[in-house]
Amino acid sequence: MTQIANIKRRGMMLVLSSPSGAGKTTLAKRLLETDRNFTMSVSVTTRAKRPSEVHGRDYFFVAPAVFADKVKRGELLEHATVFGNAYGTPRAAVQDALSEGLDILFDIDWQGTQQLKEKAREDVVSVFILPPSRPELERRLRGRAQDAPDVVAQRMAKANDELSHWAEYDYVIVNDSMASAESKIAHIVEAERHKRARQTGLSEFVRTLMA
Ligand code: ADP
Ligand code: 5GP
Repeated sequence: MTQIANIKRRGMMLVLSSPSGAGKTTLAKRLLETDRNFTMSVSVTTRAKRPSEVHGRDYFFVAPAVFADKVKRGELLEHATVFGNAYGTPRAAVQDALSEGLDILFDIDWQGTQQLKEKAREDVVSVFILPPSRPELERRLRGRAQDAPDVVAQRMAKANDELSHWAEYDYVIVNDSMASAESKIAHIVEAERHKRARQTGLSEFVRTLMA
């Protein structure tokens, strides 16, 4: 019988960034549904909860004083102010997931991505999601129907800030059709899993081949 090699591998930290409304949350959810080795990093934020969001699933919604306390205690791996609210990545959950051999998915902005790269360059795989056009970005933001019109306008006004960081990312995907963008992310993940440096069990495996 053919034995399937079970080669030990180091988890990756997959970052998705985009201007608000380009579709990264939707793409992240699809990846989590289709790839069981991924777990989501749930951020802490001081922003108000949207109607469809659940505390502990989409974010941990906290008061500004609680957020400041987490920063002071060093509990956040990275943090930044985005659209006037504070957002940050809890450190402990990331460490737990990596030590269990899981891959972790981050929906964070360019500021957070830069900080993660400073702390864990080898583990980070960064993907920038572009909308197919500017009118389509606005249509998606409005169509989400979760934010007030002034919030949508503020996010459109800030789109260029985020867009200007596209060249700092390892991969860039245009999210035209969901199925196509989803498949591109799956291919990136598959290729990254085969990076030699990530396959920490390779020398042990090759030794058994040479014995
Ligand atoms: P982000 O997390 O980047 O702010 P979302 O994932 O919340 O964006 O997507 C914004 C809106 O656009 C949602 O209503 C989502 O259903 C829709 N959307 C996302 N990707 C596509 C796509 N490829 N085609 C059409 N609509 C999309
Ligand atoms: P939203 O309010 O639409 O959920 O997110 C607004 C922006 O904040 C998005 O660009 C999202 O990627 C970013 N964001 C969410 N969580 C974090 C985080 O923990 N750290 C950083 N740096 N950005 C985050």
